[in-house]
Amino acid sequence: MGIQIGTEYGGTACNFMTTILTIEEISKVDPAVAVFVEIQNTLINNVIKKLGTNEQKKTYLPQLASNMIGSFALTESTAGSDAFSLKTIATPDGSDFLLNGSKMWISSADIAGLFLVMANANPSAGYKGITCFLVDRTTPGLTIAIPEKKLGMRSSGTCMLTFDNVRVPKTAILGEYGKGYKIAAGFLNEGRIGIGAQMIGLAQGCFDATIPYLMERTQFGKPVFSFQGMQHQIATIATQIEAARMLVYNAARLVEAGEAFTMQAAMAKWYSADVAQQTCIKCIDWMGGVGFSQDFIQEKFYRDVKIGSIYEGTYNMQLNTIAKHLEKLYKQ
Ligand SMILES: Cc1cc2nc3c(=O)[nH]c(=O)nc-3n(C[C@H](O)[C@H](O)[C@H](O)COP(=O)(O)OP(=O)(O)OC[C@H]3O[C@@H](n4cnc5c(N)ncnc54)[C@H](O)[C@@H]3O)c2cc1C
Repeated sequence: MGIQIGTEYGGTACNFMTTILTIEEISKVDPAVAVFVEIQNTLINNVIKKLGTNEQKKTYLPQLASNMIGSFALTESTAGSDAFSLKTIATPDGSDFLLNGSKMWISSADIAGLFLVMANANPSAGYKGITCFLVDRTTPGLTIAIPEKKLGMRSSGTCMLTFDNVRVPKTAILGEYGKGYKIAAGFLNEGRIGIGAQMIGLAQGCFDATIPYLMERTQFGKPVFSFQGMQHQIATIATQIEAARMLVYNAARLVEAGEAFTMQAAMAKWYSADVAQQTCIKCIDWMGGVGFSQDFIQEKFYRDVKIGSIYEGTYNMQLNTIAKHLEKLYKQ
């Protein structure tokens, strides 16, 4: 829960690459558990660690490292890919702010103790009014709906939140007033590497669960793995998973080195999500009829994998980011 949180706050003081490896390993077994680990470590803990006041760090980091789950609340029903058009507002009221509005698709909201909420504190300034607030679950006026019914990722609760005059003190602002858009954009770039790790872990988990079956299953008197038509497909997928892994690790390496990584993070997330989808499709094909059965894990991976091309920026939004960087690079 607190991979990169310092030992003085009860964390393990590890680095970003450790977070990435942890997400990858857990995703081999359950990508839905991994999404909580991903959001907790790449977004919630990191933002508080890097931008929180001493008071905020002392209050939240020990809990986040041990028994408190955090949720990152940016998306709204009318603000998805265009996240900065969000409508949740924060109105000053004495020394407090009153939050009003709603959020959609918030991961872990069913069990979270703390919400990082993006709200516009100065709508006349457009996206430059967006501010990040720390909101405790028990704050009056915050309502958390029952989890959405989803195709996959079912052990990760995804809920709508509504804010009805939710009163928070000025000290609940995380980072600077009006700089929430920078937090959302900046930290989500790191988060995308985390989703890349989730996708390569998922792909590897599905692949690892499939190959032994192909070696055991015989048709025409031979293991189905032995047919060259199968082996070429298996070798292609194994290579693609390895290539995706290298993209993810390279993006994480750039983060560690303090270098620019936004384009590489988008490439890693886009490619890993694509490869993971291909892997799940192929594993079910290779398994034949049993691959279509709920008695085998491939069916769950196949449902879970779809989210990789949607959250923390869709396929198209990753491609937009890559193209924007290429345009800048080649115009220089
Ligand atoms: C299971 C799940 C968990 C989630 N967890 C969280 C969370 O914890 N916190 C949070 O804040 N949000 C969360 N989200 C929200 C998620 O990040 C958004 O769903 C995602 O960003 C896409 O937004 P949207 O659903 O509104 O789709 P839209 O933005 O409406 O996109 C619809 C389609 O239009 C395309 N599109 C949009 N704009 C462009 C463009 N400029 N160019 C090309 N194509 C475009 C998209 O690629 C997509 O194919 C979660 C979503 C899900 C499903």
